[in-house]
Amino acid sequence: MTDTGRFAPSTTGPAHPGTLLAALLCWLDARSRGGRVVLRLEDLDPERSTPELTSAMEDGLSWLGLDWDETVRQSANREAHEDALDRFAAAGLLYPCACSRATHKSHGLRSPDGGFRYLGTCRGRALPAGGWRECEEPLRVELPSGVVPCVDESGLDLSQDPAAQFGDPVVRRRDGAIAYHLASVVDDSLQDVTRVVRGRDLAATTGVQLRLRAMLELPRPVYRHHLLLLEQRGDKLAKLHGAVGLPRLREHYGASGLCGFLAHAAGLSPDPAPRTPRDLLADFDWRRVHAQDRVIHWDGTQLRVDAVRLLDV
Ligand code: GLU
Repeated sequence: MTDTGRFAPSTTGPAHPGTLLAALLCWLDARSRGGRVVLRLEDLDPERSTPELTSAMEDGLSWLGLDWDETVRQSANREAHEDALDRFAAAGLLYPCACSRATHKSHGLRSPDGGFRYLGTCRGRALPAGGWRECEEPLRVELPSGVVPCVDESGLDLSQDPAAQFGDPVVRRRDGAIAYHLASVVDDSLQDVTRVVRGRDLAATTGVQLRLRAMLELPRPVYRHHLLLLEQRGDKLAKLHGAVGLPRLREHYGASGLCGFLAHAAGLSPDPAPRTPRDLLADFDWRRVHAQDRVIHWDGTQLRVDAVRLLDV
């Protein structure tokens, strides 16, 4: 069977170097196997995602030299997301949650992604008589307990008991938006995704996604998590975000110049000389990609790779 990868950026801001590196690695992974690769523009956040940001993400990736076998906007899959909620409701697993953020944090128990565990306080609360569509509160799904075994393709052991370590996830938010984990697993299955290649910041919640997949009887893809680009913020290192967006970068870099920098930061090229994604295809091999995160700096005109740092998952 042909492998299918997907790049699934949230379209809530401009692409930054971390987004572009993730896109490049995902594309190289799929294309080097002769596989398909889908661009899924994750535009479900009604407060932060706009049609302009979504189009800018699509244009920016194409400017960098990445092409896709299919491009989808996640909002187009609403029906499939709602079907999944119908299935959970029919199984009696969906319930409204009345907890405030403060209640939720008051026990102080952390989940593996740095958030707060949900202790199941509202389990057993009934849905409105007219069904979940009439609910004005966030909806959670009741997870069965037990460990989900998972070692990703890079060797990261991500086995966890999502019910105990996270608690029941929100699957539909108060504002009606379908929550990320549910939309992501439903869409991976709709798009026949067999390889989920993404940054290590998303590794900690893989168990939750695997559990949801199992509950919906969706196929399980191979997961691989890769290095992140970090930036110095105060005296901390943080996942790169605000440093510099693609519009600024394009004032100073051509596409192959930027791609060459990313390839160098990832370990795929000995220097930051210009390279296209296609140039990198011939000898792409995950063994050449740095396992450790890289710190990068933007000095106002140029990017620089600084140091090495391990991120604990
Ligand atoms: N949309 C998510 C993000 O941009 C990533 C989804 C995924 O790759 O699973 O962080």
